[in-house]
Amino acid sequence: MSKNADVVVVGAGPAGYAAAIRCAQLGFSVICVDKSKDSQGQPTLGGTCLNWGCIPSKALLDVSHKYNEMHKLDAMGIDTGDSKIDIAKMLNYKDSVVDQLTKGIGLLFEGNGIEFVHGRGKLLDGRRVSVSSDEGESEEIQAEHVILAPGSVPIEIPAAPLDYENVVDSTGALEFDKAPARLGVIGAGIVGLELGSVWARLGSEVVILEALDDFLPATDRRVARDAMRIFSKQGLDIRLGARVTNTVLEGETVKVSYQLQNEDKVLECDKLIVAVGRRPYTEGLLADDSRVNLDERGYLFVNDLCATDAPNVYAVGDVVRGPMLAHKGMEEGVMVAERIAGQKPVVNYDTVPSVIYTLPEVAWVGLSEEELKASGEEVNTGMFSFGANGRAIAANESDGFVKVISDAESDRILGMHILGAQASELIAQGVIAMEFGATAEDLALTMFAHPSLSEAVHEAALGVSGSAIHAIARRKRS
Ligand code: NAD
Repeated sequence: MSKNADVVVVGAGPAGYAAAIRCAQLGFSVICVDKSKDSQGQPTLGGTCLNWGCIPSKALLDVSHKYNEMHKLDAMGIDTGDSKIDIAKMLNYKDSVVDQLTKGIGLLFEGNGIEFVHGRGKLLDGRRVSVSSDEGESEEIQAEHVILAPGSVPIEIPAAPLDYENVVDSTGALEFDKAPARLGVIGAGIVGLELGSVWARLGSEVVILEALDDFLPATDRRVARDAMRIFSKQGLDIRLGARVTNTVLEGETVKVSYQLQNEDKVLECDKLIVAVGRRPYTEGLLADDSRVNLDERGYLFVNDLCATDAPNVYAVGDVVRGPMLAHKGMEEGVMVAERIAGQKPVVNYDTVPSVIYTLPEVAWVGLSEEELKASGEEVNTGMFSFGANGRAIAANESDGFVKVISDAESDRILGMHILGAQASELIAQGVIAMEFGATAEDLALTMFAHPSLSEAVHEAALGVSGSAIHAIARRKRS
């Protein structure tokens, strides 16, 4: 059987579904292909982010945060008695959140007239996509344009093969039926810190083994240093420079061998999460004659506008260069849809925000002070602590700070780095400022509601010229 469409999108994760919806809005006939099934074996939309990534992990982070907060409410005059956590109910709650959002994508597809085809898509020559089902049936779709958005999968390492029971990846770590007494994590990246935090808040003793000597090397050094101190106080035992060499299961205990400063060590735990990064998912995606090429790291090769080497074939999201972040993929999907419609949008890769949903949260946009100085840029910085912010103190969430970095000559904002409650929300102010080419003075001249956490952004911007009101300037400026 064969079908036709103006656009075929392979993959219904954030990058793919955003591309499909925008194409439909622009008047194209669209078919979206995805092979994912949920735990009941039913086709599901939304990809890793909605089913096994961003959304379920945030549900667990929010529940575990609320549970953890109960122990701190006494000082505020709230007696919560003996608070208990029911893990089975928590997992049901997480599943209901996922269900609501994945079904929401289905409704958006329906409302926009997008046809969904369940199965594994493969790009053939001439903008044809074959779709094969688990039952062995296959059909072919002929399109004018093809958008590939197959996403990424967790990296597996020979030193810690998954058994999906005691040694799991980020997906398995969302399904523990009780908080493991001893939880090991390989990798102190975003996944390791977020999932380590969830289970630590629910009672697990968590040890994170990180191969690098530096903690969160992509972030501002002061943010990384303060975050390390706070996370350690919360009970995350983060061991830097720890290179995992082997894993064995003895009974129900996972024994993880690792080297720390040339010393051989063993970590014993009940569950081990392997969170060492993700890789582009391209298995079975391309026929030999598809004319799409991979780059040297296994990503689909694209130009700045997400065009592959094959005419009218585009690729977006985790499968192409750049950070593996849902919002970056969504913007690429929208850009490609609008380019197909003859418009001229571009994605501004300089303003992609990054967030780690720990508590306090870590968020940043643009370059760090260290990166800027290393490239010879002269910069001014302003910092403001949540410890001097009325709203943060009132909420008993005064850890962390905001740092604004601007060009010494033009005062243009080059980066914003936040460690603090709601950093994921506050960072949008930095993104908007940078997108509009704002200077630190532009932010400083803006009025912010009092009291609010956002005032820390304002005061950090004022601090660039030494004029923050609620901080004593080390250096007086005009
Ligand atoms: P990551 O790259 O952020 O971190 C992996 C860490 O594992 C690195 O620090 C690395 O040095 C370490 N590592 C690698 N091999 C190791 C070994 N053998 N022993 C010890 N440590 C080792 O990867 P991740 O945390 O798995 O996340 C994967 C991707 O998903 C990232 O691109 C991330 O941006 C994305 N993601 C984003 C969010 C978010 O936006 N909040 C949440 C989850 C995942």
